[in-house]
Amino acid sequence: MTLPLTEAAIGILADLVAYPTVSTDPNLAMIADLATRLEDAGARVEILGDETGTKANLFATLGPDGPDGIVLSGHTDVVPADPAEWTTDPFCLHDNAGRLYARGTCDMKGFIAATIAALPAFTAAPLRRPLHFAFTHDEETGCIGARHLVSDLERRNICPGIAIIGEPTEMRIVEGHKGCHEYTTRFTGAEGHGSEPDKGVNAAEYAARFVARLLEIKAALKARGPVGNRFDPPWSTLNVGRISGGSARNVIAGAAEVEWETRPVTAEDGDFVTREMRAFCEEVLLPEMRRVAPTAEIRTEVIGEIAGLMPMDDNAARDLVAALTGDPTAHLVAFGTEAGLFQALGMSVVVCGPGSIAQAHKPDEYLETAQLDACMRMLAGLAARLR
Ligand SMILES: [Zn+2]
Repeated sequence: MTLPLTEAAIGILADLVAYPTVSTDPNLAMIADLATRLEDAGARVEILGDETGTKANLFATLGPDGPDGIVLSGHTDVVPADPAEWTTDPFCLHDNAGRLYARGTCDMKGFIAATIAALPAFTAAPLRRPLHFAFTHDEETGCIGARHLVSDLERRNICPGIAIIGEPTEMRIVEGHKGCHEYTTRFTGAEGHGSEPDKGVNAAEYAARFVARLLEIKAALKARGPVGNRFDPPWSTLNVGRISGGSARNVIAGAAEVEWETRPVTAEDGDFVTREMRAFCEEVLLPEMRRVAPTAEIRTEVIGEIAGLMPMDDNAARDLVAALTGDPTAHLVAFGTEAGLFQALGMSVVVCGPGSIAQAHKPDEYLETAQLDACMRMLAGLAARLR
C-alpha cells in the first residue's frame, strides 16, 4: 500500500519531471518552483545563480541557524532523452504497475520530490537542528553547480555536519566511490614534409611521449596504492581512451589529441597525476617543441573532475541513515556523485536515495513506487529525530 506522503511525492515528481532540465538547458523554472514550495513551508531560501544567468543552485534552511545541520542534496539536471527511444513522453510522468516512468525519476528528481513531500513532517514541530536543502545544477556535466555551492558555503562559513546525497542507491547506504577525472590533451605542432622531420614539430610523436609518461604514472599509482581500502581495484587507475592525430603517412603531424581519465582513490593521487603531467609538458615536451616552432602548444582541457568519496571509520551520516533505514551495511559504488565535494568541506557524507542506478541514463528510466515509499519512511524518521 502506498503511503499518503508517497502520493504527495508522486504528484510533486510529476511536476518536476515536466521541467526538461537537461544539463545543456536552463533549470531556473524548476528552481523557482522548488523555492516557492520551500518558502511556503517557512524555509529561508537562497537562489544562487551561475555566471551565465541560465542556471542556479538552491540552498534552503528550516529550523535554527548555526552549525551541525543536516543537508539533503540532489541535482536538478538530467541527461538528454531522445523521445524516439522512449515508450512514453520522457518529460511526462507515466505511472504503470508500481513504476514511475520519466527522465530523471530515479536520477534524481524522485529524491528531490520526496524531500519536498516531507516538508509537512519537517515543519510539524520546531526542529532542534538546522535542516538544509541543497539542489544543484550541472551535476551530469562534472558537478559544476555543487562545486559553486560548496565554495559558497565555505566562504560564508556554513559547515553543516551531515550530508545525505539522494542519488539512486535503492535506499542502501553508499559510503564511498572513487574520483573520476577526465581530460583531453591537445598537441599543436608544425606540419612539414615527412622526409624532413627536423623542420617540423610532430604532434603525434609528442602525444606518444605524453602517453608513455601516462603509462609510467599508471604503474606508479598501482605501486603506491593505499593498502587496506575496499575499492576494486584498490589503487587509483588511469586509462588512455582515445588517441588521434596527423593527416597522412608522409606529413609531419601538425595536431594530435589524447583523451584520458584517472580514477583516484585519494585526492592526493589525483593531484599527483595532474602535477606530474603538467611538469612533464612544461619542463620536457614544450621546450623541445618550441625550439623548432615557438607557436607549439600543449593544452589539457578538464572535461570533469569529480571528487571521490572516501569511506571513513567515523561517519555520523552513515550512523544516522543506518538508524533510519535499519540497514547498517555500507557499500562502495563505481559511479561518481557530488558527495566528495561535500566531504571536502568537512561534512560526514553518505549517498542514499530511491531507485536504481541501473535505470539511470537510459530510455524508459523509472522509479519504483516502493522505493519512494522507503525514502518517505526514512525522511519521516528523520523528521521525528529532529524534533
Ligand atoms: Zn545523478
